[in-house]
Amino acid sequence: MNLEIPYRLENYIGGEFVAPMNKQYLDCINPATAEIFALIPNSNEQDVDAAVVAANAAFSSWSVTPVEERFKILNRIADLIDENLEELALAETNDNGKPLWLSKRMDIPRASSNFRFFATGIMHFATESHSMENKAINYTLRQPIGVVGCISPWNLPLYLFTWKIAPAIAAGNCVVAKPSEVTPVTAYLLSKICKEAGLPNGVLNIVYGTGASCGEAIVKHKEIKAISFTGSTRAGEQIALIAAPMFKKLSLELGGKNPAIIFADCDWEKMMRETIRSSFTNQGQICLCSSRILIEASIYKKFTTEFVEQVKALTIGDPLNDSSRQGAIVSKIHFDKIIACIETAKQEGGTILYGGNALQLEGRCSNGYFIQPTVIEGLSPNCKTNMEEIFGPVVTLQSFSTEEEAIQLSNASNYGLAATIWSQDISKANRVAAKVESGIVWINCWLRRDLRTPFGGVKNSGVGREGGWEALRFFTEVKNICVEL
Ligand code: NAD
Repeated sequence: MNLEIPYRLENYIGGEFVAPMNKQYLDCINPATAEIFALIPNSNEQDVDAAVVAANAAFSSWSVTPVEERFKILNRIADLIDENLEELALAETNDNGKPLWLSKRMDIPRASSNFRFFATGIMHFATESHSMENKAINYTLRQPIGVVGCISPWNLPLYLFTWKIAPAIAAGNCVVAKPSEVTPVTAYLLSKICKEAGLPNGVLNIVYGTGASCGEAIVKHKEIKAISFTGSTRAGEQIALIAAPMFKKLSLELGGKNPAIIFADCDWEKMMRETIRSSFTNQGQICLCSSRILIEASIYKKFTTEFVEQVKALTIGDPLNDSSRQGAIVSKIHFDKIIACIETAKQEGGTILYGGNALQLEGRCSNGYFIQPTVIEGLSPNCKTNMEEIFGPVVTLQSFSTEEEAIQLSNASNYGLAATIWSQDISKANRVAAKVESGIVWINCWLRRDLRTPFGGVKNSGVGREGGWEALRFFTEVKNICVEL
């Protein structure tokens, strides 16, 4: 084994760090340098089965552990995430390619917020009762489900992993979790933190490996009662195919093709600043990023000129440098996919206003996967480029003349995750918001997140909602009890 490799991961099962049963490991690559960053277990159904046995063994006591105790443990996990921010942020950046300042400012702080939020949430979670005059009273129990599966993607690795695990264990379940095989290292560091925080053995089990082998084994396992999945629509479809006949509870947070609708009466400077952010933060690899920018015709020219100027000024560089606004694309496979999508856009008749190319940096990152932020115009609303998710630093521009046309263009997509509306006419903005087919709408802002709000999409963007009570409801089974008086 190359001793230079910073991390060699082991599955976390029943509180122990164990090798995969087949002794096989996968390479995990730092996308900024193309060097091996970690070796990770290539787990299969045997490892998943061992994790389920451990989770089942822990469930009888964890499910009746007083909420005050769960609250304390989850808060300790949050505190330890904060204390280890530097190491976690560096691991996240080396694993994912995102700028280190972004990992420090967004990803890791949000992971501790997730634990703190659901630690508090479970203390306040209440159920209903329904009185039938003097005849009977119904009350509703919300009980933990048992062993649940949590599967997460690579774009916000620890942020989304903890967004699932925290409500699941807060609600009294035991978890078998799998981070993306592309970015697994912060999940491994989290397992060490959970052990240090005193989370009882078996409450959280983490297995590493591919979607086809390890992920599907979680979905197929008879004793895993619910699956919370975030990832591509393609994988979500596959998971639904397996899980639906088994009548598993499913939460699917899938892809997007989000519109930013820009009216002429917007607050120009704020809109411009935030649209740059919503288009290119995390190299455009946030499910909530705007990828179709719809601009009112009267300001189309002005917008295009200024937007392109500002995109040109985005510094692409070594993710470890504070000055880099854009880091590396997460993997070679994803890099190739984005480059192919840009080629498709050209073939479809799109004009590249800026970008469109891979970028070779000098020095440490000379082999890394970097792509210029790319702006394309001149495409029809229903071409492949405007219909399919690219999930990279690529946006298209389209113009509209009326409010109705803006809504029509927004809804031309098969996805419906997040939309952004820019207008100072608040009545108009609210009218449009009500008609846009989307689970989330931001008016005059982007990515302003309140963890209490329902989070999720419509159409091909998924099924169910995460966040706040929605998450705690998902991770509990409801039972109505009727007592005759
Ligand atoms: P992906 O679907 O390839 O993988 C996501 C996770 O699922 C990984 O852990 C993977 O190993 C696993 N997986 C893949 N196939 C599986 C299968 N058949 N059975 C079980 N598990 C399987 O997605 P990705 O490339 O890691 O992430 C990017 C995608 O995630 C984009 O489509 C993006 O829009 C989406 N995403 C959605 C949200 C949201 O909240 N809606 C948030 C972030 C990312």
